[in-house]
Amino acid sequence: MILQDKVALVTGGASGIGRATATLAVSVEQHAFGAAGAKVVFSDIRGVEGEETADLIRETGAECLFVKSDVSSEADVRDLVQKATLAVSAKQRATYGKLDCAFNNAGIDLVVTPLHEQLIEDFDQIMSINARGLFLCMKYEIQQMLIQGAGAIVNNSSTNGLVALSGISPYVASKHAVMGLTRSAALDYAKQGIRINAVNPGPIATDLMARSAGQMGITFDDLGSMVSMGRIGQATEIAQAVVFLCSDAASYITGQPLAIDGGYTAN
Ligand code: NAD
Repeated sequence: MILQDKVALVTGGASGIGRATATLAVSVEQHAFGAAGAKVVFSDIRGVEGEETADLIRETGAECLFVKSDVSSEADVRDLVQKATLAVSAKQRATYGKLDCAFNNAGIDLVVTPLHEQLIEDFDQIMSINARGLFLCMKYEIQQMLIQGAGAIVNNSSTNGLVALSGISPYVASKHAVMGLTRSAALDYAKQGIRINAVNPGPIATDLMARSAGQMGITFDDLGSMVSMGRIGQATEIAQAVVFLCSDAASYITGQPLAIDGGYTAN
């Protein structure tokens, strides 16, 4: 229970990596925020799927609050962080009252095509969610963490925040922006008890990756064969790393990317 009594926030928790990190589903029993002992507050733009994640967490006896919220809206993000700190614990009849860790995970992909064919509105949309949305989340999470004098933030970048992949230049730009925000914010708050790191997943079996693979006319097995380990990753394998980076076990780690990619970027 390495996050015992901590309050954790996850964006994009209705599916994929966000759900695996927020939830206590059978496949993640050792590692998700709920299993690690945290109270979980999570957001998504999809209400029905968000409530499904909430049910999965509550079935295990862990506490959570789902907030339908868009990371690209400043008002929504401000309200989300406020709700996290004001959430009322059913068990203890007290407010959660703080924000110890945050996983800024919400993100979108886009049409796979060379840069000259990419639409300007698609570029603007991906930057407004993957980069600006993550900036907004950090801005309001950090305001709360400064009051407490402590906190740990993990941003979901990608191997595409470390190296490029052809056909998805706006996505690659947005994930490199996440790395720039992570490193500079880590420097801003290193002396104030707030650690900020990134995870850089390789291909992970989620809805987002199924959409991308479908567009490219390839399967998860094809994607796996591009990775040194010869397989695609699972969302729980990212959740484990996020919980570690949020925990006190990572107390001397800040400003770092953690590639969780089956050796893809070691190549
Ligand atoms: P996913 O589509 O299963 O989950 C993303 C979630 O974010 C969805 O539930 C979606 O509704 C939500 N979301 C989208 N826009 C939002 C917004 N404006 N506000 C709030 N929530 C929003 O995909 P996933 O694979 O779990 O992706 C999660 C993150 O991981 C993304 O940032 C993605 O870029 C990153 N990532 C994924 C992979 C992969 O292979 N799956 C690899 C590297 C990085």
